[in-house]
Amino acid sequence: MSELMPEPTAGLYVHIPFCLSKCRYCDFNSSPLAGRSGLAGAYLDALLEEIAARCRGRKISTVFAGGGTPTVLAEKELEKLIRGIFKNACIDKNAEFSCEANPGTLTAAKAKLLFELGVNRLSLGLQSTEAKILKVLGRVHSWPDFLKSYDFAGKAGFTNINVDLIFGVPGQTLFGLKRDICKVKELKPAHISIYNLILEEGTQMHADVKNGLYALPGEDLDADMYYMIKEMLETAGYVHYEISNFARPGKECRHNIIYWKAQDYIGTGAGASGKLGKERSDNIEDPEQYIVLIKKNKNAIIRSQKLSRKEELSETIFLGLRMLEGLSLTTFKERTGKDFFVLFEKEFKKLSGLELLKEENGFIKLTGKGLFLSNEVFVEFV
Ligand code: SF4
Repeated sequence: MSELMPEPTAGLYVHIPFCLSKCRYCDFNSSPLAGRSGLAGAYLDALLEEIAARCRGRKISTVFAGGGTPTVLAEKELEKLIRGIFKNACIDKNAEFSCEANPGTLTAAKAKLLFELGVNRLSLGLQSTEAKILKVLGRVHSWPDFLKSYDFAGKAGFTNINVDLIFGVPGQTLFGLKRDICKVKELKPAHISIYNLILEEGTQMHADVKNGLYALPGEDLDADMYYMIKEMLETAGYVHYEISNFARPGKECRHNIIYWKAQDYIGTGAGASGKLGKERSDNIEDPEQYIVLIKKNKNAIIRSQKLSRKEELSETIFLGLRMLEGLSLTTFKERTGKDFFVLFEKEFKKLSGLELLKEENGFIKLTGKGLFLSNEVFVEFV
């Protein structure tokens, strides 16, 4: 690399495909670790080898260790993971380094270790404060477990903490959700992510709903929940900066913004996806096969494709629209070489007529109604 040429930057995603147990709604690439002796150690060896190979020649601006549940790893393994990431990749000194953790797997010692080794953002999966909702979701922790984890994180030194919540769960009421938000905002976390439950095929929850065991709340209640969340969190001083994400000013998740702005990121670990320029790649999902492939080839990519022009256009639009600042018309033209209105005049007219989309100061944005009905908007651009 010439001295005059700055190193290209990228975000780094590191996938840990292990959890305590499988939640009923989860379709992430994760499975219980218990009873699979030696797997975590061999997986980490392969993962660090992949990180070294794939991050070469790149300055890493953000790291996100997710899963799965990274904190299901034993202390020694967590230490090996974080030290290995710093050793095998060139991490910018101002990098945001997030790690996901679930209550019941985060001890005081693990929280301290993560912070001391350089992790500066912790994302805690709470999902709900109600025991009955946690049970429906198949979560194995309780609200008191979460409070303990939150306390461990604070005492370890973390000030940048995200709390994950879910709404639209069978049996959840507006009042129950309101109580969730009140309890969480009292803790004053830097960031709150709150996702609408999606029924994914192949999950236990999908089968339960199909078999009539549970009923989803329905679109009207979902909409009431969404607007209540927005109102409550904005009143509490959070900036609503992405459809499902709220942050204290300046605490927006830099790693996720890389995804939404369609910038470069390297995905490492079983089932991880990455995107460099127009090239998208996916790793093999099975952790055991992942280890074999890394040992053999130093990479575990099973699919790699160049985004077609059409895919690039729709990706730029629906990722850009996820952010409340909207899609910059200038960036759109720079990236695609085309004027947005020349390509999508008809779609824009239709969606603005339905009060789902608007133009403001050179940005195309979802309206308040469009934020909740974003999928209906995105479909028009696919
Ligand atoms: S903890 Fe997260 S990744 Fe693990 S099973 Fe539950 S939802 Fe899936």
